[in-house]
Amino acid sequence: MMVFGGCGFDHSRGTASSDTNSAGAENDTDVVRYRELPVHYKIASTIPAEFHADIRAGFSSWNEATGVEIFVYDGIKSLQDDQLAPDFTVNENVVLQTNRSGQLAADAAQGSDGGPGPLARTYLKGATKIMDADVYLFEFDTYFVNGRPDTGDIYSLESVVAHEAGHILFGSDHSSDEESIMTAVLYPKDNPKEKLGPSQSDADRFEAVYADLIE
Ligand SMILES: [Zn+2]
Repeated sequence: MMVFGGCGFDHSRGTASSDTNSAGAENDTDVVRYRELPVHYKIASTIPAEFHADIRAGFSSWNEATGVEIFVYDGIKSLQDDQLAPDFTVNENVVLQTNRSGQLAADAAQGSDGGPGPLARTYLKGATKIMDADVYLFEFDTYFVNGRPDTGDIYSLESVVAHEAGHILFGSDHSSDEESIMTAVLYPKDNPKEKLGPSQSDADRFEAVYADLIE
């Protein structure tokens, strides 16, 4: 049986107060997007160094697909193992890993059948403009290192991070376009349907949503 990973995006952290359009200022759109370009991000010190290249490749895949310097790596965010709550990374976009199963938030959307939790989740703050984003990689040792006990499937960090990076750019929506990196279901390494980066349609979406911020 093939078991695929869901993103498990959690929308409950959004707040609607911080970026209501003010009259005369950038009120031409209510499309959800990050507040500025480029998007700076850090990698938590709790993620072993051997995985950093794959994480950075996930972000860079957007730069390569679009020819725009969208994501900029800003170095290591020093955190202790017990500092995984989003409160420790306010105003910094950080990638974190945990061996907890997708239940960082009390209202985490767990598989309704009691199955495995999501692979990852991106917490966004802001409403139409995303002010802060943090990417949590759940069950790190299982999903990304050793493989699921039931299937042996290991997920590509590059693939999962590329997907979560898309949430930083576009908010919580998933795509029904099977070519998009933003489909709700993610595939493990060596699956023919695995996608390592954005599709042309994802790149086109970026160019449309961020048109006024790119040359
Ligand atoms: Zn997702």
